[in-house]
Amino acid sequence: MSLHTIEYQGVGIEYELLRKDVKYINLRVNKQGRVVVSAGKKVPFSVIEEFVQSKSIWIITHLAEMEKLRSHLPDSTLFTGKTVYFLGQPYQLSLEQGAPYFAFEGDTLHMVTSLSEQTELRQAYLSWLKTQAVPKFSEILSRIYPLAEPYSVPFPVVKIRNMRSIWGSCTAAGGNIRLNLQLMKADEGCIEQVILHELLHFVHPNHNPAFYALLTQLMPDWKERKQRLETKYKDGI
Ligand SMILES: [Zn+2]
Repeated sequence: MSLHTIEYQGVGIEYELLRKDVKYINLRVNKQGRVVVSAGKKVPFSVIEEFVQSKSIWIITHLAEMEKLRSHLPDSTLFTGKTVYFLGQPYQLSLEQGAPYFAFEGDTLHMVTSLSEQTELRQAYLSWLKTQAVPKFSEILSRIYPLAEPYSVPFPVVKIRNMRSIWGSCTAAGGNIRLNLQLMKADEGCIEQVILHELLHFVHPNHNPAFYALLTQLMPDWKERKQRLETKYKDGI
């Protein structure tokens, strides 16, 4: 397989070329929105390029329709080709039928499942995400806690919930912090910021100037991290 690009009206169209033991040229757009061209081993490259060029309008229309369809789906809908963020990296989701498992392969996240209902799919995805979040949040907490420790912050119990409107919360009396499962979409720098924020509520319960002064002292770039979290990773499932 090799990757090539043709240009149509200033738009680059990338396609995968597969050389096969056939005489013809075949072109399709797969479910992931990738253009795949199969061609016989003896077909000259210039002929293939010309063929793909001649199909430009069809390809662009097809891709645009797929995109349009997707833009009408609710944010939480899982489908093959959807971009899902995991620890700050975008992956193309690939839904496949079979005995359930999840696996990363290059920039693809395979979700193999026997389910087909959206609500069940979403539940299965979030359950899997939680198995990833438990060790990851605990690892990041261990890394960030030493910053707060000198201020008599107790090492908290972490609770993970899928939440709609907040990234985290702190119940100082109960000695725990609650983290939004959706944080797993964000890069670790963003997760560090949320964890430190919640830890500092053991020192200052409210968002008063003293709270922000301490946060800035311990993490001078917290605002950029928060900004990234609010813009890049706000959409979710
Ligand atoms: Zn707060």
